[in-house]
Amino acid sequence: MVDDTGVDTPTPHPMPWQSHAWERFAASIAANRVPHALLLGGPAGTGKRALAEAMAARLLCRQPVDTRACDHCRDCRLRRAGSHPDYQIVEPAAGGSGILKIEATRELTEFSHHTSQQNHRRVVILNPAEAMNRHAANALLKTLEEPPDGMVLILVSHQPGRLSATLRSRCQYERLGIPSPVQARTWLQSQGVEAPEALLALAGGSPLTARQLAAEDGMERFEALAAALGGVIRQRQSAVAAATEWRPVGALETTRLMQQLAIQLMRAATDPRQRLTGYPAFEQLQSLLDGERLARIQADLLPLREAAEQPLSRELSIEALFLIWRRP
Ligand SMILES: [Zn+2]
Repeated sequence: MVDDTGVDTPTPHPMPWQSHAWERFAASIAANRVPHALLLGGPAGTGKRALAEAMAARLLCRQPVDTRACDHCRDCRLRRAGSHPDYQIVEPAAGGSGILKIEATRELTEFSHHTSQQNHRRVVILNPAEAMNRHAANALLKTLEEPPDGMVLILVSHQPGRLSATLRSRCQYERLGIPSPVQARTWLQSQGVEAPEALLALAGGSPLTARQLAAEDGMERFEALAAALGGVIRQRQSAVAAATEWRPVGALETTRLMQQLAIQLMRAATDPRQRLTGYPAFEQLQSLLDGERLARIQADLLPLREAAEQPLSRELSIEALFLIWRRP
């Protein structure tokens, strides 16, 4: 359905590797024992938010087909148009501090005390839960102490260990891991991703991250970065020249790519089976850097990544990023 504003959000489906989690969820609905709060915890880039949305869609739908939302009933149409009165997604604002402040939770508390306008369930997705500051988390705990009837809260967390034990104990915890390499590769191929193995390795096994890397020029970009770094390390290219080349990409993005590269190189250094072959610039870097140096590079990149994330630090030197790799 397309509403007046033209918004039409497709209904996400659970990922193939989430079938067990989905079966447990469907069984809880069938038994009329839907928990008040669910915590979907696991590594980033594995599709937890999509799962949360698929769950919300099913909870709001009144004419489900098998275990899924029908996509066509009034509730489904309202949800797809982004105007379901009993559905909310609470997330940090784009480009903001990335923190969920108490106002966000207050909004949620108020929402939870409304009566459902559709006389049915109400669903809130909070993503990611670890983005809540302490005040927000305390306010949320109060809501969870006396959960209103019909309300289901779905917390998504990339780092569930950072949530308080009390908060975790109030939720039904669904632990979602990295899919098997075969599952991930099959899915990436179904998404039209070329070179899925190498991208998966760079994404640490997270298929959605790998798909995103593919959309951002994939291996070509990493090969170009690896080539530039190889040139700087072997002193065939100056850090200034490399920085000029990478300036259009920006400091934050370059730091992010370097971090992913360093993590993969570290994996390859500790486990030769993880070495990427067929990418000459990569292979050169693999032979130039040992585990000890890579550990130092990772440690040096971390504060620069944090600095690059600050809105006022656009001047962060890309040259400094390249120089990190040359230090013996
Ligand atoms: Zn429906």
